[in-house]
Amino acid sequence: MEHTRRDKICDLLRSKIYDREVTVKGWVRTKRDKKTFGFIELNDGSTIRNIQIIVDFATVYGNTLNNLQDQNTFANWKEITTGAAVCITGKLVESPAAGQPVEIQAQKITVYGTADPESYPLQKKGHSLEFLREIAHLRPRTNTFGAVLRIRHAMAYAIHKYFNDNGFYYIHTPIITGSDAEGAGAMFRVTTLNDQQPPKLPDGRVDYTQDFFGKMTNLTVSGQLEAELGAMALSLVYTFGPTFRAENSNTPRHLAEFWMIEPEMAFYDIHDNMDLAEDFLKFLMQYALDHCIDDLEFLNKMYDNELIDRLRSVIASRFERLTYTRAVEILIASGQQWEFPVSWGTDLQAEHERYLVEKHFGKPVILTDYPKDIKAFYMKQNDDGKTVRGMDVLFPKIGEIIGGSQREEDLESLRRRISEMNIPEKDVWWYLDTRRFGTAPHAGFGLGFERLILFVTGMANIRDVIPFPRTPKNAEF
Ligand code: ATP
Ligand code: MN
Repeated sequence: MEHTRRDKICDLLRSKIYDREVTVKGWVRTKRDKKTFGFIELNDGSTIRNIQIIVDFATVYGNTLNNLQDQNTFANWKEITTGAAVCITGKLVESPAAGQPVEIQAQKITVYGTADPESYPLQKKGHSLEFLREIAHLRPRTNTFGAVLRIRHAMAYAIHKYFNDNGFYYIHTPIITGSDAEGAGAMFRVTTLNDQQPPKLPDGRVDYTQDFFGKMTNLTVSGQLEAELGAMALSLVYTFGPTFRAENSNTPRHLAEFWMIEPEMAFYDIHDNMDLAEDFLKFLMQYALDHCIDDLEFLNKMYDNELIDRLRSVIASRFERLTYTRAVEILIASGQQWEFPVSWGTDLQAEHERYLVEKHFGKPVILTDYPKDIKAFYMKQNDDGKTVRGMDVLFPKIGEIIGGSQREEDLESLRRRISEMNIPEKDVWWYLDTRRFGTAPHAGFGLGFERLILFVTGMANIRDVIPFPRTPKNAEF
């Protein structure tokens, strides 16, 4: 196929250089006929906005529509339906029409691929998000998913930019892990053993020493433990990769496969950790406002009229910082009726988190110093013997967006804790080694990427902010 240069629609819409020849390639959003000319609205994914193309039939086909009916060239015009992929060369002109800066007067149209209007699922606009989940292979072509995917990309880029600009190193932690000590959730087994007749130990359990890695392995629930190893050498590191939880939680905020950003910082205490989390989140929101405003305005109009105001208000706010114990007092004193009752020692539910953020403080909240029994073994223990230096960042509409802590750097305290929690030392000997050799205070946190994207896009369901959601009973695409 002849290769023609392509002008990106986002560039043309910004261009002030008129009356020149341009070539656009993309997918038809709509087409309209008049007697002697037609209009095409074309989108190429470079922006949420379409470019309008005016097709003067005499120019492109050498005739009017009526006279074209039986001629071969008309097939080309008939093939141009919603969803078809086309290449159009023409003249970029200043548009006389309101609401668009430029349009293209077509000279030549090539159809790369048709989309039969009878069977193309996106022929009509206005499908429900639930329906679009069933056609996840095609939904990137809608305005909504185009916007979400562009914002998702911008946030991934901004995350790397933030850390790079602040002296962090990106460290790739493994996806297949031999450690199941993290305790963040149920895991997916990774095995190449024969699933009909796996080798068995005398006591009937599967003999994983004969498995691919010579031991039982799973998909990781977090890159943190390995990131800590990096921080103990490079000082400032972060991971950004897929994580997996085999929990049967069918909520709008949980996926079985999601991406997590986990910075880990040597010589940071929990206050430094909170400062970093707050600065990082505000940077990301500001980046979205600065670079994705067309997409944000679309989502603000279509799904969440408070989206842009909410982003601005989070950037302007000082996150409220208080202890778990104080939060429980506030929740009890609130007189609210809860689905899950609150008392000191229980894990807070989304309803409690959102009450604190949305009703009580009216801004993001960071809770610290949680009861040790509801948190992981690695969190630094406080002198009260009851709480640990964990911190959760709670956001409006989302609840927990970040979970983190100062880590226990003292070898003996850590060993006591893992033995209390029945974690075999032989499973975490390598982790304990960092406390044996050159241990130092350090801290870190995990930001759920899709929870961030939920917040930044204003979408309500986490299935709509990842291209191919993995949830219980769903892995079709
Ligand atoms: P939650 O209580 O909301 O289920 P968690 O406390 O189990 O979350 P962590 O283990 O602290 O989660 O993970 C760190 C971050 O990863 C969370 O703050 C959240 O943003 C995100 N996260 C956790 N589980 C999921 C999930 N199943 N799907 C998407 N994001 C998740
Ligand atoms: Mn958490």
